[in-house]
Amino acid sequence: MSEKRDYYEVLGVDRNADANELKTKYRKIALKYHPDKNPGDTEAEEKFKEAAEAYEVLSNPEKRQMYDQFGHRAFENGGAGQSGGFRDFEDIFSSFGDIFEDFFGFRGGRGGRTRAQRGADLRYDLKIEFTDAAFGKETELELEKMETCDECRGTGAKPGTEPQTCNQCRGSGQFVRTQGFFQVKSVCPKCRGQGKIITEPCPKCRGQQQVATRKTVELKIPAGVDNGSRLRLAGEGEPGVNGGPPGDLYVFLHVKPHDIFERRDNDVVCKVELSFIQAALGDEITVPTLTGEEIVEIPKGTQYGDTVKLTNMGIPALRTGLPGDQIVEVHLKTPKHMSKRQEELMREFEKLESEKLTSKIKRIFTRNGEKSSKAAK
Ligand SMILES: [Zn+2]
Ligand SMILES: [Zn+2]
Repeated sequence: MSEKRDYYEVLGVDRNADANELKTKYRKIALKYHPDKNPGDTEAEEKFKEAAEAYEVLSNPEKRQMYDQFGHRAFENGGAGQSGGFRDFEDIFSSFGDIFEDFFGFRGGRGGRTRAQRGADLRYDLKIEFTDAAFGKETELELEKMETCDECRGTGAKPGTEPQTCNQCRGSGQFVRTQGFFQVKSVCPKCRGQGKIITEPCPKCRGQQQVATRKTVELKIPAGVDNGSRLRLAGEGEPGVNGGPPGDLYVFLHVKPHDIFERRDNDVVCKVELSFIQAALGDEITVPTLTGEEIVEIPKGTQYGDTVKLTNMGIPALRTGLPGDQIVEVHLKTPKHMSKRQEELMREFEKLESEKLTSKIKRIFTRNGEKSSKAAK
Protein backbone atom coordinates (compact mmCIF):
# COMPACT_ATOMS: atom_id res chain seq x y z
CA MET A 1 0.00 0.00 0.00
CA SER A 2 1.31 3.46 -0.82
CA GLU A 3 1.22 6.42 1.55
CA LYS A 4 -1.65 6.11 4.02
CA ARG A 5 -4.42 8.64 3.62
CA ASP A 6 -5.58 10.76 6.51
CA TYR A 7 -8.47 9.04 8.33
CA TYR A 8 -10.63 12.17 8.38
CA GLU A 9 -10.08 12.57 4.67
CA VAL A 10 -10.98 8.93 4.07
CA LEU A 11 -14.35 9.43 5.75
CA GLY A 12 -14.78 12.91 4.30
CA VAL A 13 -15.39 14.60 7.66
CA ASP A 14 -13.87 17.52 9.54
CA ARG A 15 -11.50 16.99 12.43
CA ASN A 16 -14.20 17.86 14.95
CA ALA A 17 -16.93 15.63 13.50
CA ASP A 18 -19.04 13.95 16.19
CA ALA A 19 -19.78 10.24 16.57
CA ASN A 20 -23.04 10.47 14.66
CA GLU A 21 -21.50 12.17 11.69
CA LEU A 22 -18.68 9.64 11.58
CA LYS A 23 -21.15 6.80 11.62
CA THR A 24 -23.31 8.29 8.88
CA LYS A 25 -20.34 8.95 6.62
CA TYR A 26 -18.87 5.55 7.24
CA ARG A 27 -22.15 3.86 6.41
CA LYS A 28 -22.36 5.68 3.12
CA ILE A 29 -18.89 4.64 2.10
CA ALA A 30 -19.29 1.07 3.31
CA LEU A 31 -22.52 0.76 1.38
CA LYS A 32 -20.97 2.16 -1.79
CA TYR A 33 -17.88 -0.04 -1.73
CA HIS A 34 -19.45 -3.12 -0.18
CA PRO A 35 -17.82 -6.23 -1.75
CA ASP A 36 -21.22 -7.72 -2.54
CA LYS A 37 -21.99 -4.74 -4.73
CA ASN A 38 -18.58 -4.66 -6.35
CA PRO A 39 -17.52 -8.24 -6.92
CA GLY A 40 -13.97 -8.55 -8.20
CA ASP A 41 -13.30 -4.81 -7.97
CA THR A 42 -10.02 -4.55 -6.09
CA GLU A 43 -10.14 -0.78 -5.90
CA ALA A 44 -13.53 -0.87 -4.20
CA GLU A 45 -12.18 -3.55 -1.90
CA GLU A 46 -9.30 -1.27 -0.90
CA LYS A 47 -11.63 1.66 -0.28
CA PHE A 48 -13.96 -0.49 1.78
CA LYS A 49 -11.10 -1.69 3.91
CA GLU A 50 -9.57 1.77 4.23
CA ALA A 51 -12.87 3.26 5.43
CA ALA A 52 -13.33 0.47 7.97
CA GLU A 53 -9.89 1.10 9.37
CA ALA A 54 -10.46 4.86 9.57
CA TYR A 55 -13.79 4.38 11.26
CA GLU A 56 -12.43 1.86 13.70
CA VAL A 57 -9.88 4.38 14.93
CA LEU A 58 -12.00 7.53 14.88
CA SER A 59 -15.02 5.94 16.52
CA ASN A 60 -12.91 4.98 19.52
CA PRO A 61 -12.25 8.09 21.64
CA GLU A 62 -8.88 6.89 22.94
CA LYS A 63 -7.59 5.80 19.57
CA ARG A 64 -8.90 9.00 18.04
CA GLN A 65 -7.01 11.09 20.55
CA MET A 66 -3.81 9.17 19.85
CA TYR A 67 -4.35 9.55 16.15
CA ASP A 68 -4.96 13.29 16.50
CA GLN A 69 -1.72 13.61 18.40
CA PHE A 70 0.59 11.32 16.48
CA GLY A 71 -1.10 10.54 13.18
CA HIS A 72 -0.56 7.13 11.65
CA ARG A 73 2.62 6.74 13.67
CA ALA A 74 0.48 6.26 16.76
CA PHE A 75 -0.21 2.73 15.65
CA GLU A 76 2.99 1.81 13.84
CA ASN A 77 4.43 -0.33 16.55
CA GLY A 78 1.27 -1.87 17.84
CA GLY A 79 0.58 -4.04 14.81
CA ALA A 80 -2.78 -4.95 13.46
CA GLY A 81 -4.28 -5.71 16.86
CA GLN A 82 -3.96 -2.14 18.06
CA SER A 83 -4.04 -0.11 14.93
CA GLY A 84 -7.43 -1.04 13.71
CA GLY A 85 -6.06 -2.97 10.74
CA PHE A 86 -8.34 -5.80 9.73
CA ARG A 87 -7.29 -9.24 8.64
CA ASP A 88 -10.22 -9.79 6.28
CA PHE A 89 -13.78 -8.78 5.58
CA GLU A 90 -15.17 -11.11 8.18
CA ASP A 91 -13.21 -9.15 10.73
CA ILE A 92 -14.77 -5.94 9.55
CA PHE A 93 -18.25 -7.36 9.64
CA SER A 94 -17.87 -8.79 13.09
CA SER A 95 -16.51 -5.49 14.40
CA PHE A 96 -19.24 -3.31 12.99
CA GLY A 97 -22.11 -5.76 12.89
CA ASP A 98 -24.59 -3.31 14.33
CA ILE A 99 -23.94 -0.76 11.63
CA PHE A 100 -24.42 -3.31 8.86
CA GLU A 101 -27.47 -4.71 10.55
CA ASP A 102 -29.22 -1.39 10.07
CA PHE A 103 -28.91 -1.32 6.33
CA PHE A 104 -28.75 -4.93 5.35
CA GLY A 105 -31.30 -6.19 7.81
CA PHE A 106 -29.15 -8.87 9.35
CA ARG A 107 -26.03 -8.90 11.41
CA GLY A 108 -22.69 -8.96 9.71
CA GLY A 109 -24.26 -7.90 6.45
CA ARG A 110 -23.66 -11.28 4.99
CA GLY A 111 -22.48 -14.77 5.78
CA GLY A 112 -23.34 -16.62 8.92
CA ARG A 113 -26.16 -18.98 9.66
CA THR A 114 -29.62 -17.58 10.18
CA ARG A 115 -30.16 -16.72 13.80
CA ALA A 116 -33.03 -17.76 16.01
CA GLN A 117 -35.45 -14.88 16.32
CA ARG A 118 -38.08 -14.15 18.91
CA GLY A 119 -41.60 -13.91 17.54
CA ALA A 120 -43.31 -10.54 17.33
CA ASP A 121 -45.55 -9.26 20.14
CA LEU A 122 -49.21 -8.89 19.34
CA ARG A 123 -51.78 -6.37 20.49
CA TYR A 124 -55.43 -7.06 21.14
CA ASP A 125 -57.94 -4.36 22.02
CA LEU A 126 -60.75 -5.54 24.25
CA LYS A 127 -63.88 -3.64 25.30
CA ILE A 128 -65.18 -4.60 28.70
CA GLU A 129 -68.13 -3.61 30.89
CA PHE A 130 -67.67 -1.19 33.77
CA THR A 131 -68.62 -3.85 36.31
CA ASP A 132 -66.23 -6.40 34.79
CA ALA A 133 -63.41 -3.92 35.29
CA ALA A 134 -64.56 -3.47 38.89
CA PHE A 135 -64.92 -7.10 39.83
CA GLY A 136 -62.86 -8.98 37.24
CA LYS A 137 -63.94 -11.59 34.75
CA GLU A 138 -62.72 -14.68 33.03
CA THR A 139 -63.18 -14.49 29.33
CA GLU A 140 -61.91 -15.93 26.07
CA LEU A 141 -60.23 -14.19 23.18
CA GLU A 142 -60.44 -15.33 19.60
CA LEU A 143 -57.13 -14.66 17.92
CA GLU A 144 -56.08 -14.90 14.34
CA LYS A 145 -52.35 -15.36 14.25
CA MET A 146 -49.50 -17.43 12.94
CA GLU A 147 -48.61 -20.61 14.77
CA THR A 148 -45.76 -23.04 14.34
CA CYS A 149 -47.07 -25.65 11.91
CA ASP A 150 -48.13 -28.70 13.91
CA GLU A 151 -47.98 -31.01 10.89
CA CYS A 152 -44.21 -30.65 10.42
CA ARG A 153 -43.48 -29.15 13.87
CA GLY A 154 -42.00 -26.12 12.25
CA THR A 155 -39.42 -27.86 10.09
CA GLY A 156 -41.26 -27.11 6.85
CA ALA A 157 -40.59 -30.62 5.57
CA LYS A 158 -43.33 -33.11 4.77
CA PRO A 159 -43.77 -35.47 7.75
CA GLY A 160 -41.69 -38.58 7.18
CA THR A 161 -39.13 -36.69 5.13
CA GLU A 162 -36.09 -34.81 6.40
CA PRO A 163 -34.67 -31.56 5.16
CA GLN A 164 -31.51 -32.40 3.19
CA THR A 165 -28.16 -30.82 3.95
CA CYS A 166 -27.48 -28.20 1.29
CA ASN A 167 -24.90 -29.56 -1.13
CA GLN A 168 -23.63 -26.15 -2.14
CA CYS A 169 -22.57 -24.96 1.30
CA ARG A 170 -22.52 -28.35 2.98
CA GLY A 171 -24.82 -27.15 5.69
CA SER A 172 -22.84 -24.10 6.76
CA GLY A 173 -25.33 -21.66 5.21
CA GLN A 174 -22.38 -19.66 3.93
CA PHE A 175 -21.03 -19.22 0.50
CA VAL A 176 -17.29 -18.62 0.49
CA ARG A 177 -15.36 -17.25 -2.40
CA THR A 178 -11.90 -15.88 -2.73
CA GLN A 179 -11.53 -12.31 -3.78
CA GLY A 180 -8.04 -10.84 -3.99
CA PHE A 181 -6.39 -12.22 -0.94
CA PHE A 182 -9.59 -12.10 1.06
CA GLN A 183 -12.02 -14.85 1.67
CA VAL A 184 -15.46 -13.39 1.17
CA LYS A 185 -18.37 -15.09 2.86
CA SER A 186 -21.96 -14.49 1.94
CA VAL A 187 -25.30 -16.16 2.47
CA CYS A 188 -25.57 -19.38 0.49
CA PRO A 189 -27.92 -18.57 -2.40
CA LYS A 190 -29.19 -22.12 -2.69
CA CYS A 191 -30.46 -22.63 0.86
CA ARG A 192 -30.63 -18.89 1.76
CA GLY A 193 -28.43 -19.42 4.78
CA GLN A 194 -30.49 -22.23 6.29
CA GLY A 195 -27.89 -24.92 5.55
CA LYS A 196 -30.72 -27.28 4.66
CA ILE A 197 -32.96 -27.74 1.69
CA ILE A 198 -36.50 -28.97 1.94
CA THR A 199 -37.01 -31.41 -0.89
CA GLU A 200 -40.61 -32.25 -0.09
CA PRO A 201 -42.35 -29.32 1.59
CA CYS A 202 -44.95 -29.91 4.27
CA PRO A 203 -48.35 -29.85 2.56
CA LYS A 204 -49.98 -27.93 5.37
CA CYS A 205 -47.62 -24.94 5.61
CA ARG A 206 -46.06 -25.36 2.14
CA GLY A 207 -42.64 -25.30 3.73
CA GLN A 208 -43.25 -21.96 5.48
CA GLN A 209 -43.01 -23.54 8.96
CA GLN A 210 -45.96 -21.48 10.15
CA VAL A 211 -49.65 -21.50 9.45
CA ALA A 212 -52.36 -18.91 10.05
CA THR A 213 -54.71 -20.16 12.71
CA ARG A 214 -57.65 -19.13 14.79
CA LYS A 215 -56.95 -19.69 18.40
CA THR A 216 -58.96 -19.25 21.54
CA VAL A 217 -57.03 -18.13 24.58
CA GLU A 218 -58.32 -17.68 28.07
CA LEU A 219 -57.98 -14.33 29.72
CA LYS A 220 -58.42 -13.59 33.37
CA ILE A 221 -59.23 -9.94 33.93
CA PRO A 222 -58.32 -9.05 37.51
CA ALA A 223 -60.68 -6.96 39.62
CA GLY A 224 -59.82 -3.29 39.67
CA VAL A 225 -58.46 -2.81 36.15
CA ASP A 226 -59.16 0.52 34.53
CA ASN A 227 -59.44 2.02 31.10
CA GLY A 228 -56.01 1.71 29.44
CA SER A 229 -54.85 -1.20 31.62
CA ARG A 230 -52.67 -3.65 29.75
CA LEU A 231 -52.55 -7.38 30.36
CA ARG A 232 -49.75 -9.58 29.10
CA LEU A 233 -50.16 -13.16 27.98
CA ALA A 234 -46.66 -14.56 27.79
CA GLY A 235 -45.90 -16.63 24.73
CA GLU A 236 -49.19 -15.89 22.94
CA GLY A 237 -47.63 -13.62 20.32
CA GLU A 238 -46.29 -14.73 16.96
CA PRO A 239 -44.13 -17.86 16.96
CA GLY A 240 -40.35 -17.51 16.86
CA VAL A 241 -38.26 -18.19 13.78
CA ASN A 242 -35.55 -20.85 13.63
CA GLY A 243 -36.28 -22.10 17.10
CA GLY A 244 -36.61 -18.66 18.73
CA PRO A 245 -39.17 -18.14 21.49
CA PRO A 246 -42.64 -16.80 20.71
CA GLY A 247 -43.57 -13.18 21.38
CA ASP A 248 -46.17 -12.05 23.90
CA LEU A 249 -49.74 -10.93 23.54
CA TYR A 250 -50.71 -7.60 25.06
CA VAL A 251 -54.38 -7.03 25.76
CA PHE A 252 -55.34 -3.35 26.01
CA LEU A 253 -58.53 -2.83 27.98
CA HIS A 254 -61.16 -0.29 27.09
CA VAL A 255 -63.79 0.12 29.77
CA LYS A 256 -67.27 1.13 28.60
CA PRO A 257 -68.78 4.05 30.50
CA HIS A 258 -71.55 3.25 32.97
CA ASP A 259 -75.02 4.81 32.82
CA ILE A 260 -75.06 5.68 36.49
CA PHE A 261 -71.56 5.48 37.89
CA GLU A 262 -68.47 7.46 37.21
CA ARG A 263 -65.13 6.19 38.39
CA ARG A 264 -62.65 8.31 40.35
CA ASP A 265 -59.64 6.13 41.13
CA ASN A 266 -61.22 3.33 43.13
CA ASP A 267 -64.27 5.29 44.19
CA VAL A 268 -67.48 5.32 42.23
CA VAL A 269 -69.60 8.43 42.13
CA CYS A 270 -73.32 8.58 41.47
CA LYS A 271 -75.68 11.51 41.48
CA VAL A 272 -79.12 11.52 43.08
CA GLU A 273 -81.77 14.16 42.58
CA LEU A 274 -83.79 15.21 45.61
CA SER A 275 -86.55 17.73 45.99
CA PHE A 276 -85.56 20.69 48.10
CA ILE A 277 -88.17 19.55 50.63
CA GLN A 278 -86.43 16.16 50.99
CA ALA A 279 -83.12 17.94 51.37
CA ALA A 280 -84.50 20.33 53.93
CA LEU A 281 -86.38 17.81 56.02
CA GLY A 282 -84.10 14.81 55.52
CA ASP A 283 -85.22 11.51 54.07
CA GLU A 284 -84.35 7.92 53.42
CA ILE A 285 -83.75 7.05 49.79
CA THR A 286 -82.72 3.97 47.84
CA VAL A 287 -79.60 4.36 45.69
CA PRO A 288 -78.14 1.91 43.17
CA THR A 289 -74.75 0.38 44.02
CA LEU A 290 -72.36 -1.72 41.91
CA THR A 291 -73.85 -4.86 43.41
CA GLY A 292 -77.50 -3.87 43.95
CA GLU A 293 -79.14 -1.17 46.03
CA GLU A 294 -78.64 0.46 49.38
CA ILE A 295 -80.85 2.57 51.60
CA VAL A 296 -79.20 5.87 52.35
CA GLU A 297 -80.17 8.39 54.97
CA ILE A 298 -80.20 11.98 53.83
CA PRO A 299 -79.71 14.25 56.84
CA LYS A 300 -81.86 17.30 57.52
CA GLY A 301 -80.59 20.44 55.86
CA THR A 302 -78.63 18.76 53.08
CA GLN A 303 -77.28 21.23 50.53
CA TYR A 304 -76.79 20.95 46.80
CA GLY A 305 -73.49 19.14 46.14
CA ASP A 306 -73.31 17.53 49.58
CA THR A 307 -72.10 13.96 49.48
CA VAL A 308 -72.88 10.81 51.38
CA LYS A 309 -70.19 8.18 51.53
CA LEU A 310 -70.92 4.46 51.35
CA THR A 311 -67.74 3.00 52.74
CA ASN A 312 -66.15 0.06 50.89
CA MET A 313 -68.84 0.06 48.21
CA GLY A 314 -66.38 1.11 45.47
CA ILE A 315 -63.90 -0.76 43.28
CA PRO A 316 -61.17 -2.95 44.79
CA ALA A 317 -57.65 -1.64 44.23
CA LEU A 318 -55.80 -3.71 41.66
CA ARG A 319 -52.75 -4.31 43.85
CA THR A 320 -54.14 -4.53 47.36
CA GLY A 321 -57.73 -5.59 46.75
CA LEU A 322 -58.88 -2.95 49.24
CA PRO A 323 -62.17 -1.50 48.08
CA GLY A 324 -62.81 2.17 47.42
CA ASP A 325 -66.03 3.94 48.43
CA GLN A 326 -69.22 4.93 46.73
CA ILE A 327 -69.89 8.64 46.82
CA VAL A 328 -73.49 9.75 46.51
CA GLU A 329 -73.65 13.33 45.31
CA VAL A 330 -76.85 15.25 46.01
CA HIS A 331 -78.47 17.39 43.33
CA LEU A 332 -81.65 19.33 43.92
CA LYS A 333 -84.79 19.75 41.87
CA THR A 334 -86.99 22.82 42.04
CA PRO A 335 -90.72 22.18 41.54
CA LYS A 336 -92.04 23.59 38.27
CA HIS A 337 -95.76 23.16 38.63
CA MET A 338 -97.46 23.84 41.95
CA SER A 339 -101.06 23.90 43.02
CA LYS A 340 -102.52 27.12 44.46
CA ARG A 341 -102.38 25.69 47.94
CA GLN A 342 -98.73 24.68 47.54
CA GLU A 343 -97.90 28.14 46.34
CA GLU A 344 -99.71 29.68 49.31
CA LEU A 345 -97.73 27.51 51.67
CA MET A 346 -94.51 28.45 49.93
CA ARG A 347 -95.28 32.15 50.24
CA GLU A 348 -96.11 31.68 53.89
CA PHE A 349 -92.85 29.80 54.30
CA GLU A 350 -91.04 32.61 52.55
CA LYS A 351 -92.69 35.20 54.81
CA LEU A 352 -91.60 33.31 57.89
CA GLU A 353 -88.11 32.97 56.42
CA SER A 354 -87.77 36.74 55.89
CA GLU A 355 -89.14 37.49 59.33
CA LYS A 356 -86.62 35.10 60.75
CA LEU A 357 -83.92 36.76 58.71
CA THR A 358 -84.92 40.26 59.77
CA SER A 359 -84.86 39.33 63.43
CA LYS A 360 -81.54 37.63 62.93
CA ILE A 361 -80.07 40.73 61.31
CA LYS A 362 -81.47 42.84 64.14
CA ARG A 363 -79.81 40.50 66.61
CA ILE A 364 -76.50 40.77 64.82
CA PHE A 365 -76.72 44.54 64.73
CA THR A 366 -77.61 44.70 68.37
CA ARG A 367 -74.74 42.40 69.28
CA ASN A 368 -72.32 44.35 67.14
CA GLY A 369 -73.61 47.52 68.68
CA GLU A 370 -72.94 46.13 72.13
CA LYS A 371 -69.49 45.03 71.05
CA SER A 372 -68.58 48.36 69.54
CA SER A 373 -69.94 50.24 72.54
CA LYS A 374 -67.80 47.97 74.74
CA ALA A 375 -64.82 48.51 72.50
CA ALA A 376 -65.33 52.26 72.71
CA LYS A 377 -64.92 52.24 76.45
ZN1 LIG B 1 -45.66 -27.64 8.07
ZN1 LIG C 1 -26.56 -23.82 1.28
